Amino acid sequence: MKAGLKVCGMRDLMNIQAVTALHPAYIGFIFYPGSARYIGSVDPELLSSIPATIKTTGVFVNETLEEVKRLIALYELKAVQLHGAESPEYCAALQPYTEVIKAFGVNYSFDFESLIAYEKVTSYFLFDTLTVNHGGSGKRFDWSLLKQYRLNQPYFLSGGIGPDDVNELASIDDKRLHFIDVNSRFEISPGLKDIELLSTFFTLWNAAPAAKNYNDMNYFVNEKGYYGDFGGAYIPEMLYPNVEELRQHYLEIINAPEFQQEFRALLKDYVGRPSPLYLAKRLSEKYNANIFLKREDLNHTGAHKINNTIGQILLAEKLGKKRIIAETGAGQHGVATATVCALRGLECVVYMGEIDIQRQAPNVARMKMLGAKVVSAVSGSKTLKDATNEAMRDWINNPIDTHYIIGSVVGPHPYPDMVALFQSVISEETKKQLLEQTGNDQPDYVLACVGGGSNAMGMFYHFVNDKDVKLIAVEAAGKGVHSGHSAATTALGKEGVLHGSRSILMQTDDGQVIEPYSISAGLDYPGIGPQHAHLFKTTRAEYVSVSDEESLDAGLLLTQLEGIIPAIESAHALAYLEKMEFTGKENVVVCLSGRGDKDMETYMKHFGF
Ligand SMILES: *Cc1c(COP(=O)(O)O)cnc(C)c1O
Repeated sequence: MKAGLKVCGMRDLMNIQAVTALHPAYIGFIFYPGSARYIGSVDPELLSSIPATIKTTGVFVNETLEEVKRLIALYELKAVQLHGAESPEYCAALQPYTEVIKAFGVNYSFDFESLIAYEKVTSYFLFDTLTVNHGGSGKRFDWSLLKQYRLNQPYFLSGGIGPDDVNELASIDDKRLHFIDVNSRFEISPGLKDIELLSTFFTLWNAAPAAKNYNDMNYFVNEKGYYGDFGGAYIPEMLYPNVEELRQHYLEIINAPEFQQEFRALLKDYVGRPSPLYLAKRLSEKYNANIFLKREDLNHTGAHKINNTIGQILLAEKLGKKRIIAETGAGQHGVATATVCALRGLECVVYMGEIDIQRQAPNVARMKMLGAKVVSAVSGSKTLKDATNEAMRDWINNPIDTHYIIGSVVGPHPYPDMVALFQSVISEETKKQLLEQTGNDQPDYVLACVGGGSNAMGMFYHFVNDKDVKLIAVEAAGKGVHSGHSAATTALGKEGVLHGSRSILMQTDDGQVIEPYSISAGLDYPGIGPQHAHLFKTTRAEYVSVSDEESLDAGLLLTQLEGIIPAIESAHALAYLEKMEFTGKENVVVCLSGRGDKDMETYMKHFGF
C-alpha cells in the first residue's frame, strides 16, 4: 500500500473545486487566524459539497475546545489537525466528535517518547518541520530523524514536500506512513494552489512503485515486553505485583516533562554530560580509520552505569519508594547505586556474594562510605547469582516501599527497555557530536563491549534503524572461547530463561547455568539482555569475542598512544579493532564504557609494572 495524499490551505472557491477534482484523501482548511492561509468564515455549503470520500479537515492552533467543536458541527469536519500545544486531554475531548490528527514540529532535539501520551487519544500523528509559525514554512526537516519514531501509530508526513520529491517519498520504507501532506510548495501565492503542478504530482505519485520491502523488523520492545522471541517477564508469582507496578508506570513517569528536566539536569551537572566524543588521532593512524571514542569513562564514578542509576532513583522517587536494593558482582553497580542513594537521601541495601565481598574490598568500602548497607550472600557459589536471589527475596518481602535497581539491560520486562532508555543518551549525544565533527550523524561502525549489554544498548540505541551503520558487540572470550573459561555468550549459549527474561545464556544440556569467566568483572556474566539476543538472532548486530590477553594489550596500547587508561571491559571493544580492516575513510565509534583505575591491580600483575 502506498501513502495517500492530503492537500492543505486553500481559500478560493475555484481553487478548492479544482483540488477536489484531483480527489486527495484529505483536504485541509486552516482555521488559525495567524496563518497566511486562514480561511476566514466560509459558507458551510462549500465544504459540504465536497464528496464524503474526501475527508475535510480543520487545522487549528491552540483554539478553545468550544470553538473547535462549534466548527466541527458547522462544517461537518471529518478530521481536525492540531498544530499548537494541545494536550492529550484536549485531544481526548475531541475524539468523540471527529478524527484527531496531532501535529508535531520535528527537529534534532525532538523527543519522540513524548508522543506516547498522545497515542491513544489521536488517530494519526503529523510530522512537520518545526517553525515558530506552526507549519507552512515550505522547509523540509531531516526525514532520517523518523528512524527514532518507534510507536505503531500511523502518521502524515508534512513540511516542505515539493514537486521533485516523488521518488524519495516512494522509497520510504515505513508502513506507518499513511498520508503525505502537500502544501506551500505547490502554491502560486499563499493559499492559492498551482493546479497544474499538483496534478502532475498526483499522476507521478500514483504511478510510482511502492517501497518494496516494508521494514517489518522492529528492534524495540512490543506491548507484551518482547523483542522478537526474547524478553518477557518470567518471574515468581510473588514478584508479580512489584514488576507490574513498574510496567504500568515507567513510560508515563519517564516521559513526563518534569522527569526529563530533572534527569537531564542531573546528567549535566552531576554526571558531567555530555561526555566528549574524542577523535583519537594516534589510534586512528595505527588502525587506518577515524576512531572516535565515546568517553563514558569521564562520567562521575567512572563509567556509564551512573546514567541508569540516576534514572532509576528518580523513577523510584516518583513511585513513592523510600528504600533501594541492588545486587552487585564486582561492586561497580553497587557503587553507582549507593552513589545515587546518597545523592537523594534514600536507604540503600546492596546484596553481594561473600566471595565477591572478599575479592572487591575497595568497592565494598566505597559503598559503606556512601552510607549503603552491604549484605553478604552466603548460599550457592557465593557470587552474583546468589546475590541476585537474595535481592529478589528482599523485594518480595518489601513490595510497598522498595525499588530494585537492576544494573544492566537484563531482568524481567520492563527493566531491559527502561535501562536501555536511560542509557540511550549515549547514542543520542554521539549522533549530534558526529554530525558536528564529520557532517554525517552515521558512522560506518559502532563498537561496544557486552556484559549484560547496557553500555552497548545505549551506544546502539539510536543507530539500530540506520541500516548502513554496522553494529559490533564484543563479548569476553576469557582464556579462549572453548577453553572452558569464557563468557562468550552468543558463541556458547542457547536460548533459555535467565534472571526473569527469555534470552541467550550459557547453559548445560539440562539447563544448568554455566559459570562464566572473564578477567574483567563487568563482562563475567553468563547471559546477554533480550534486546541483544534479538539483534544477534536477526543479525542486525554482529557478536564477536576477544580474549583476556588481547584486551589487556589493547588497554596498554590505548594508554600509551592516547594517555587514556581504559577499564578492561572497554578494552575488549578496543581489542577488536585489531581484527578489522580499514581503507582509511571509515568513521568508527568505540564506546569507552569506563576508566581503568579500578583495574590497576590486574594491569600491574599482568605487565609487571
Ligand atoms: C559493568 C560494566 C560493563 C558491562 O556492563 P554492560 O551492562 O554490558 O554495559 C562494561 N564496562 C564497564 C566499565 C562496566 O563497569
